[in-house]
Amino acid sequence: MSDMLRTGAAAGAAIAVMCAFGVTPAGAAPPRTLAGTGFRVAERLGVTSVSPSRTYTVTFASARLKKRYTPYLTGAVTQMRAAGVRIVLGGVERVDPARCPPWGHIQYTQTYRPLGRGGYSKGLPCPHPAKGVASGGVVTMDSEYFDGTWHMAPHELRNTFVHEMLHTLGLDHPNLDLDGDGEAGRYECATGPDGVKPVMCSPNGGYADAAGAGRLTPFEERALRAMLANARGAGAD
Ligand SMILES: [Zn+2]
Repeated sequence: MSDMLRTGAAAGAAIAVMCAFGVTPAGAAPPRTLAGTGFRVAERLGVTSVSPSRTYTVTFASARLKKRYTPYLTGAVTQMRAAGVRIVLGGVERVDPARCPPWGHIQYTQTYRPLGRGGYSKGLPCPHPAKGVASGGVVTMDSEYFDGTWHMAPHELRNTFVHEMLHTLGLDHPNLDLDGDGEAGRYECATGPDGVKPVMCSPNGGYADAAGAGRLTPFEERALRAMLANARGAGAD
């Protein structure tokens, strides 16, 4: 999450400045849920909600990637639909990792070390979408997972695919300062009754067992429901 997609960044900066004055006009939008136990919405990127009525489509930069990646995403997409997100797995289209895709497209591509660090992938929402409603984004998976140069446990790879996809819909890392050292550190996240950390916890959140790996935890299911409610509350579609 170290850089921003180009499209919309300039307009977003202007909006952020205006909001910094804290002007609250009469008839302001109702309160929105931007964080809760185990989740945080990427308000810093201007995303506050998920559309309850428009369809998000996952696409891939090549037929080869579509075939490779689709099995990693099907379980999570089914859960997201159950939570109320209209999302489908789609086809192949050209992906420029530096540009925002058409509305609602969640594009997957693959490069070598997209964050410049071994083993890290990148998922970003298009920043500052209209009305704060997530409009899609780009996921760039690290090619090292697939060429044998970076060892990653199978459950970690499955969870990474889902973690990055949820970034494009505006979910941020929910890391906390649990040890009181003044920093929300690595692995410092809320833990569910089953011992699982949010799949959005950085790094390596999510279920470790084969049945759970690649699935949303209850934290993300609650987060998506909150973001859908944010859109409805604001009258956004
Ligand atoms: Zn992340």
